[in-house]
Amino acid sequence: MRIVHTIAETRAAIADLRRKGSVGLVPTMGALHAGHLSLVRAARAACNAVVATIFVNPTQFGPNEDFSKYPRTFQADCALLEAESVDLLFAPEPAEMYPEGSSTIVEVERISDRLDGQSRPGHFRGVATVVAKLFNIIGPDKSFFGQKDAAQVAVLRRMVRDLNFPLEIVVCPIVRDPDGLALSSRNRYLSPDDRKSALVLHRTLHRIESRAAAGEVDASALLDTGLAVLAEEPDVRLDYLRIVDPDTLEDRADVRQGALVAVAAWVGPARLIDNVLLPPHP
Ligand code: AMP
Repeated sequence: MRIVHTIAETRAAIADLRRKGSVGLVPTMGALHAGHLSLVRAARAACNAVVATIFVNPTQFGPNEDFSKYPRTFQADCALLEAESVDLLFAPEPAEMYPEGSSTIVEVERISDRLDGQSRPGHFRGVATVVAKLFNIIGPDKSFFGQKDAAQVAVLRRMVRDLNFPLEIVVCPIVRDPDGLALSSRNRYLSPDDRKSALVLHRTLHRIESRAAAGEVDASALLDTGLAVLAEEPDVRLDYLRIVDPDTLEDRADVRQGALVAVAAWVGPARLIDNVLLPPHP
């Protein structure tokens, strides 16, 4: 695996890789776990060359968020990516991505203000801007993202459509620990007690999913079910629990057409998110 830190080196390396055929991109912020590696494997299976990026993007963190203490485990990440036969790793410094005087942003209006965008103002502007830059630098045929960040998927799909990026967004399923906790780089912040409390997120989604599968179509009834489960863990501070259209992230009143059930909550020092997609009723 070749490791590069500048845009110029990346472009030169990609020109070489292109001779192999299609290029798959896996953007990450590092602190890699099996969820990230599932994206790498999907890219490996679908494309001739795989490019991963590690960049803790400052513009997607709010002023009181965890940018400076976000876990950085670069050497271990490199070993994991190498073992998955990644061809190229692009790991820039912030100054390489945002040189002095940078003033262009990508704003995916409306969708970016919903779910995490509502709780984290400016977050999706940072995400859309950095991902657009990575697409322009790397020019992938396919780019791989996790369903874990369902709102991010909606924002990026809309960006690709609106700005005519010539690539396909591939979304991979959520990878969970055996007890149901969705893998996240932020799980490292959890104490053993926090980790037990955090299981309530998956339990909540699971209970809603079961009730919907049993025929309940009313979103507010399903949300009540979920809130009752969340109340079992008073230490978990709910940010949002919503049932929305997976493409627009607007609230859905009923789930006959299918829906995204998304939850975000603070567990100890960590803000965790999780979600489940309800299929359309037959
Ligand atoms: P991050 O490093 O947190 O920005 O995540 C990089 C990519 O990995 C994003 O597309 C995430 O959605 C994806 N990802 C993170 N956690 C998981 C997970 N548990 N399962 C599947 N994909 C994930």
